[in-house]
Amino acid sequence: MRMYDIIEKKRDGLALNDEEIDFFVNGYVAGDIPDYQVSALFMAVFFQGMDARETAHLTMAMARSGDMLDLSSIPGIKVDKHSTGGVGDKTTLVAVPLAAALGVPVAKISGRGLGHTGGTIDKMEAIPGLDVAPSRARFLEIARTVGGVVVGQSGNLDPADKKFYALRDVTATVNSVPLIASSVMSKKIAAGADRILLEVTCGNGAFMKSVDDAVELSRQMVEIGENVGRTTVALITDMGVPLGSCIGNALEIREVCDVLQGKGPEDVTEVCVELAANMAELGGKGALDACRDAVRAQIDSGAAFAKFREMIEALGGDVAALDNPDLLPQPTCSRAVYAPHGGIVYAMDTERVGIASVVLGAGRVKKEDGIDYAAGIVLAKKTGDAVAAGDVLATIYAAREELLDDGERMLLGAYDIRNERPEPRRHFYARVSRDGIEYV
Ligand code: URA
Repeated sequence: MRMYDIIEKKRDGLALNDEEIDFFVNGYVAGDIPDYQVSALFMAVFFQGMDARETAHLTMAMARSGDMLDLSSIPGIKVDKHSTGGVGDKTTLVAVPLAAALGVPVAKISGRGLGHTGGTIDKMEAIPGLDVAPSRARFLEIARTVGGVVVGQSGNLDPADKKFYALRDVTATVNSVPLIASSVMSKKIAAGADRILLEVTCGNGAFMKSVDDAVELSRQMVEIGENVGRTTVALITDMGVPLGSCIGNALEIREVCDVLQGKGPEDVTEVCVELAANMAELGGKGALDACRDAVRAQIDSGAAFAKFREMIEALGGDVAALDNPDLLPQPTCSRAVYAPHGGIVYAMDTERVGIASVVLGAGRVKKEDGIDYAAGIVLAKKTGDAVAAGDVLATIYAAREELLDDGERMLLGAYDIRNERPEPRRHFYARVSRDGIEYV
């Protein structure tokens, strides 16, 4: 078999057979096929797509490219959760303790930020002392004893996705439905949970820009999950505006603590309650409405925040920094960013806000770059808010004044202020399950 023929076949719009898919996945992981040939194939997939059989086979070939986790030592229905990413998206760190507080076991592997989107593991590392890479045995033990655990991707889990994702990121082939579907679902299947909740973000800060594309991606991922016996539900959430007020690692941990204690921004709270309620329903804790009430009760009673403290403590994190976020990493410089003129924030370029946070030091431009955990943005005004000239739009944080100059310029360019009111935004667009698509 020749890689050349596989590229040519896909370029000409034909479907690849199972052997051809296994050949390029295994060959690339083994280092026998060069980057440039897989890049060419992915560009062909980008334009020609893949059918349901090809996408499902690619997913399983990727999942089987490394270890498959066995969670059977953890009692109960294990539920996993995955977000396709966004700006200010700290939902995992809220939804997992909420679900765990309701007795839904969650043993989750999360990623780091890349590009304009943040990553859960970077946020967790802002907590002093926290170890995101415990041994496999300790990971399972925390899941059994605490009921919820989130760690980084270590060892040999889905090496195909690690290599493919890095290549796609630099060859403009991320935004392809079959490639995203196989990337997400291969990781989830390898991570071993019984049931899967997907948060598919949609809008100008997400990979899927339109609701239709997000629905199609969700539909394909649900079908892949169901076909391998993992009940899968996808919620399509809004990423046309940053989620919450805080963007940046330590800042987002502060906001997570606020949400879990019932004093966080309305949008993050609503999205996380819905995610956790869906996780609880998938975990067999009753009907969705009852699960929503039960989730809110965990916040009101303090059980949700207590569960988060337990999860962080089990990973060696300093819980004093959760009780008093002033003990989290603190920035050396800060600056208020002012509205240049009055009006209403008509829209925000969410991706640009994410890039501004990276410029300030909160994210990486290259995989090997370091991170400034204290850097980031606290938004005072978001889409739909009225502003007068000179009002504070946001406060930005960085380690050096010149980073503030660049971050300020980038952030100001993300605000579209007009004398016109935008359509009110929604937090959710649809829920996709094996029963079909419900638009909300
Ligand atoms: N998230 C993933 O895990 N993979 C993608 O391809 C895109 C978003």
